[in-house]
Amino acid sequence: MFHNCKKEMLFVIALSFSSFISAQELTDNDNVELQRVEPFQVFDNLYYVGAKWVSAWLLESDQGLILFDALYDDLTDIAIDGIRQLGFDPDDVRYVIVSHAHYDHVGGARRFQEEFGAVVMMTETDWNMTDEPAIYQEYPKPIRHLSASDGSTLNLGRTRLQFMETPGHTPGVLSTRFTVYDNGYPHDAFLFGGVGLNFSGVERTEMYINSVQRLMQMEGIEVNIPNHADSGEVFERYAMLQDRLDGDPHPFVDPESWDAWLDILMKNAQAKLGREQRAAN
Ligand SMILES: [Zn+2]
Repeated sequence: MFHNCKKEMLFVIALSFSSFISAQELTDNDNVELQRVEPFQVFDNLYYVGAKWVSAWLLESDQGLILFDALYDDLTDIAIDGIRQLGFDPDDVRYVIVSHAHYDHVGGARRFQEEFGAVVMMTETDWNMTDEPAIYQEYPKPIRHLSASDGSTLNLGRTRLQFMETPGHTPGVLSTRFTVYDNGYPHDAFLFGGVGLNFSGVERTEMYINSVQRLMQMEGIEVNIPNHADSGEVFERYAMLQDRLDGDPHPFVDPESWDAWLDILMKNAQAKLGREQRAAN
């Protein structure tokens, strides 16, 4: 039963990559009522506080909270309301880790700095992007706080984040490895900070391919924590989690579909590279 669900999910992965964002969807994306999701707990120390189309994740430590991505405009309310609904205080958000400097992830960062005193981290390269005109939508520029570089770590109490620079989607995508706990049992989780192929140029596509190659070489990743819910079937897995019986595996702990997902990303990126190389000749 459970095994079949996983197979179905692989189809969902394949399908979600063929979708394009239309103008109508963009409007729907920005609509806070259409985008609102009730916050939910996924692991002992990890909660979903994101919207339907773009994610935000809250990691609890013994010394405060870490938020992955800040959403944007009114959608940031979803994250803030979610933090409160889960019984936390947004003033306890110590760090906002921004996966990359596109409006949908970085847009609410300034608000977390000003209203809650959070420290914002992203890569140096993507901090530089915030000094330039925004590509898709404008957003309040965050005050430059800390830069995360490849191989660096951040400790907050007993929680440790390990950072990796995985450029391509933007020139300075930030990815993070951390531990999640399922009834006290630890699992290695990874948040790949920039998945979409909505960028152009042979050089950037080669960067992306190189990043995915590095992810493929990483040992031991069991849990995919995506920054857009549909690239990790977040809601489908959460539905399974709610129906989980004693002794069932945790539906987010799924190293097979992590590997399968990376294979799909690589195939799509290589096809894109082929097209771009042919167009350049
Ligand atoms: Zn993006």
